[in-house]
Amino acid sequence: MMDSLNFYVFLLIAIIAGWLMGRFNSVKSAQSKSKGGGLFDDYFVGLNYLLNDEPDEAIDTFIKALEINSETVETHLALGTLLRRRGKVDKAIKVHQALLARPNLKRNFSDSAKLQLSLDYIAAGLLGRAERLLNEILDEHSEARWEALRHLITIYQTENEWNSAIACSIKLLKNPRFKKNPQIRAGAAHYCCEIAEQCLSENQNSKAKAEIKRAFTFDKKNIRAMLLLAKLEQRQGKYKASIKKLLRVGSNNPEFTGQLLQPLAECYEQTGEGFEKLLRTIVAETANVDAVLTLAQLIKTKTGSSAAINFLSEQLSQHPSLEGLIKLFELQIHSVEPNIASSLESLLNLVDEQMRRNFEYQCLHCGFESKSLFWMCPSCKKWDNIRPIAETTAR
Ligand SMILES: [Zn+2]
Repeated sequence: MMDSLNFYVFLLIAIIAGWLMGRFNSVKSAQSKSKGGGLFDDYFVGLNYLLNDEPDEAIDTFIKALEINSETVETHLALGTLLRRRGKVDKAIKVHQALLARPNLKRNFSDSAKLQLSLDYIAAGLLGRAERLLNEILDEHSEARWEALRHLITIYQTENEWNSAIACSIKLLKNPRFKKNPQIRAGAAHYCCEIAEQCLSENQNSKAKAEIKRAFTFDKKNIRAMLLLAKLEQRQGKYKASIKKLLRVGSNNPEFTGQLLQPLAECYEQTGEGFEKLLRTIVAETANVDAVLTLAQLIKTKTGSSAAINFLSEQLSQHPSLEGLIKLFELQIHSVEPNIASSLESLLNLVDEQMRRNFEYQCLHCGFESKSLFWMCPSCKKWDNIRPIAETTAR
């Protein structure tokens, strides 16, 4: 309600301002008074529509009434933007197209109108048209091209055209204003990672490696690129190198420890000893729940259930966690009477199922929660802001 009110108040002010300027201009240029009167009539017709709660007709009439001249161009631009934000994309397109059709439109205004029209097209899902228009602005080397590049990157990202997105990012990063922008740098690194992942799935290892290296030129600490490199090296049998990369990710981003344990276990299995020692270090330093559970499993396999139970009980007394408790029950369930064991087992399944419903990742920027890891937040569209939720705070 408040939003609509603001919209109409703005619309009225814009129209009155535009009308006054148009009138002032026509007086200055000694135009006939009858034209000014016609505008005034249209204005009241529009106002009447507005008061009768027929906003669509009101907008049409106001657009008609608001003569385009050098003083009202900005009003038209603002009106168009407002219409798009209100979801009236077709009307916004009309306003911006009418502006562009005007002969002798000043260069900066035509660039702004093209930029706004391309945003209308994006909002309408007409990405091809938006792309053509934005490329026109790029060719003209205007100040608006930086903004155009940003929108082009968004379009290419949406259409999975990674190489085009990278090319635009490189151009944008040449501007000192954007050179150190972490989101643009992260985006470019992730586009390289997208290509690298595709190469990995097609077994094109050397091409994948080149893309991973390119990712590091944009963002030398990119977690995804480092994980991909570790994956590639593991695949090529370079287990020690892979372990080194995984440990580096872990020490720079301790919250990712849980995600690293599986590939680490696989690599250590090939190199021989070392995994248990690593797990003990992680447990002693961070009490990471995933590490505790993995170590408990390892102890059970090597030494037996009772040793694992002792280890878990001791850990839980220092760092209580629901996951640890469930694991402890699982280890002990075989030592209780069969009829109690079966009811205990169904109870455990129930708790386990409940826990699986919990979100495991959260966006540090907007709070979006998910069960799987997204490198770009689906909600706020920021890169590298989604992190694993620490077990101790999550449960
Ligand atoms: Zn977010």
